[in-house]
Amino acid sequence: KVRVRFAPSPTGPLHIGGVRTALFNYLFAKKNGGDFILRIEDTDQNRYVEGAENYIVESLQWCGIPFDEGTGKEKGFGPYRQSERKHLYKDYADRLIANGTAYYAFDTAEELDAHRKQHESEGKTFIYNWHNRQKLNNSLALTAEETQKKLDAGEDYVIRFKCPEDETLTLKDIIRGEITVDTKILDDKVLFKSDGMPTYHLANIVDDHLMEISHVIRGEEWLPSLALHVLLYRAFSWEAPEFAHLPLILKPTGKGKLSKRDGDKLGFPVFPLQWSDPATGDVSRGYREDGYFSEAVINFLALLGWNPGTEQELFSKEELIRAFDLERVNKSGARFDPEKIKWFNHHYLQQKDDTLLGEAFAKLLESKGIQTSLPLTRIVSLVKERATFVNDFWDQASFFFETPESYDQKASKKQWKENTADLLQRLITVLENVTDFSSATTEGTVKEWISDNGYGFGQIMPPLRLALVGEMKGPHIFDIIEILGKEETISRINKAIS
Ligand code: GLU
Repeated sequence: KVRVRFAPSPTGPLHIGGVRTALFNYLFAKKNGGDFILRIEDTDQNRYVEGAENYIVESLQWCGIPFDEGTGKEKGFGPYRQSERKHLYKDYADRLIANGTAYYAFDTAEELDAHRKQHESEGKTFIYNWHNRQKLNNSLALTAEETQKKLDAGEDYVIRFKCPEDETLTLKDIIRGEITVDTKILDDKVLFKSDGMPTYHLANIVDDHLMEISHVIRGEEWLPSLALHVLLYRAFSWEAPEFAHLPLILKPTGKGKLSKRDGDKLGFPVFPLQWSDPATGDVSRGYREDGYFSEAVINFLALLGWNPGTEQELFSKEELIRAFDLERVNKSGARFDPEKIKWFNHHYLQQKDDTLLGEAFAKLLESKGIQTSLPLTRIVSLVKERATFVNDFWDQASFFFETPESYDQKASKKQWKENTADLLQRLITVLENVTDFSSATTEGTVKEWISDNGYGFGQIMPPLRLALVGEMKGPHIFDIIEILGKEETISRINKAIS
């Protein structure tokens, strides 16, 4: 059975790249009738950030990436928070000590630092592994009695993995194919720390095994850890899951990795939700608060590194699940294009129900202190084509709520002739006699009046628009007239010609 997990560390807000990792895991699970698990990797107490876990859960919820198992959704593989599993890991570290694939190391921070400096002065880099482990302060260099004595004395230790000295590993990655790694260059990573906590590597492997994870789908930054992870499975005599490392997400320029700090610098959000840093109070923008729809975010992220093999770009979540395939994930980095996500948002805004959009617009107006009895659903339906965000409704439709105070100068110069005021005065008389002020009736009446009198449309329509809107924009003029109503329409024309 396919079981995949998203395993974030709650060290801060979830980056948009993390959301993509979660999404690909989710799509893969659903495509294959499997389960998507959320595991919180919070063993590093020093990097724990208050509120980050909630933020992660809320982000996934808002994006529409629900997990089948996780905190609050126990399905027999929990707990799903590593800090609540900490009693588990020591035993696994001990098993590796017992079978000779791990060892105790007593080196203090000062000792390690001294080794590092010594190596540097010789122009070399210090790697804690086969080539010097025999000379360091650990149970491979000490006798069994010496080691036991240190342990009994309660000396601080870590448990390190004993990496094979000279072996060529062939690792398999679903996206990258075969990768060869020479174990010579690997270091003896710490698996268990003196504070009684496992490191990421140990906890991650133990939990993936215990939670029966079938596929590990994660960011490319974890590719360098793959060899160690595969070796750990071997050391435990466990079957390893399959691995897929997703391509990096690059800055809009295509140069370099998109980082958490890029958002503020480049002027677009890099987080799904707004985040305020508990330490500094700094607020970072989020897609939700910036007015994006989760459908747009999901559709956009799905195409960051994956392609359907066709020209299709618009995908509902259900279509994504049907089309998704790890084989079609690219190896090379995916450029983040903030304009493209706007394009998706424009598309999904057009799909939204006008009543809903009208309600959102009402809130926006309220925030500007505007009370109105105008039909917002109708207004929204007229202007939404030109809107990417709900906030754009204001730019497109503010004239409905505010009588123009001035008129676009350039347009006035061009459209406003000597006889314009006179013509519009006559138009007022015509409109006064219309009882049914619907768009169709006023349109019929005004057009008839124009042609009966031999006027040109260009003499009437542009100045009329200027009078009602203040500039040469907006939807069909007779729709505007209907919405404004007789009294307001006539009063605006009067104001323009007085
Ligand atoms: N806790 C790791 C992270 O924060 C998980 C990496 C993995 O998926 O193995 O990304």
